[in-house]
Amino acid sequence: MPTTIGRFAPSPSGRMHLGNIFAALMSYASAKSKGGKWILRIEDLDRQRCRPEYSQQIVDDLLWLGLTPDEGPGSAAGGPHGPYFQSLRDDIYAETFDRLQKAGLVYECFCRRQDLTASSAPHASDGHTIYARTCLNLAEAQKAELRLTRKPAWRILLPDEVSTFTDGHYGQQTANLAADRGDFYVRRSDGNFAYQLAVIVDDAMMGVNEVVRGRDLLPASHEQTFLLRSLGFEAPSYCHFPLLLSPDGARLSKRDRSLAMDRIREKLKPGELIGLMAWLVGLQPHWSPMTIDNFVASFNWDLIPREDITVDAAALF
Ligand code: GLU
Repeated sequence: MPTTIGRFAPSPSGRMHLGNIFAALMSYASAKSKGGKWILRIEDLDRQRCRPEYSQQIVDDLLWLGLTPDEGPGSAAGGPHGPYFQSLRDDIYAETFDRLQKAGLVYECFCRRQDLTASSAPHASDGHTIYARTCLNLAEAQKAELRLTRKPAWRILLPDEVSTFTDGHYGQQTANLAADRGDFYVRRSDGNFAYQLAVIVDDAMMGVNEVVRGRDLLPASHEQTFLLRSLGFEAPSYCHFPLLLSPDGARLSKRDRSLAMDRIREKLKPGELIGLMAWLVGLQPHWSPMTIDNFVASFNWDLIPREDITVDAAALF
């Protein structure tokens, strides 16, 4: 069996909250419980929203909890697959983009945001709008004219093909790529590469063979598997976990500060936070402190629920 290589890939767009640190812990425990390695990669492609001080806080929060990466920021040795900040990896993405372009797998899209949000447009299972392919068959002359006033984004051309993979926690997943998922961005009109391209390039180049993350990204794994295979890479195994929700049913968000890591660190010691998360996911019957090593030792996907988990900050502290 090859060594399991997992990763945590946060976006530094604010202080982490309970849901983010939960994602870190789940990916760490899944990899470590198999004797594997765990990489930290900072997904700071969105230059507007991401800030270096948030990246620093991510590293600090992880180390505080005892989650020391084997590679990437915060690790002892750095690692052989750097840089571990996506904002420093444009050359690598450009090379892959070039391959997609040469293979005829991408096309220019001149649509503006307001063109894309028509209420009649079909939506995918994760809520995103399925692109109507308005720009797919533009004539060269039309494109040349549009380029005079707009910079195009680039989308992948998905085949009318069924994609199937088995998620380690949610089981078999099936979708028609073109009809259910829709052509997605690989490069934005500002020239920045898009998440879907960067994430698969990085997972492949960093040797990641186990992707553990929240179930909101379960459907996107179809696109990622397709892209990986189109480029000749092997897809990792995917294992998604339930989301943490606030009592109103919304996902925990960085805007809601009640479960932000700075607040949590004022109230809890690392072992208390690990114990809280162990209790929330059913690894222990009540909330009592737990060491990181015990969390890893008791980690068992069979005990993790599939339904989302409600966390009431007011009732906890
Ligand atoms: N950077 C993404 C996020 O913070 C996670 C990407 C992934 O795990 O594939 O939501």
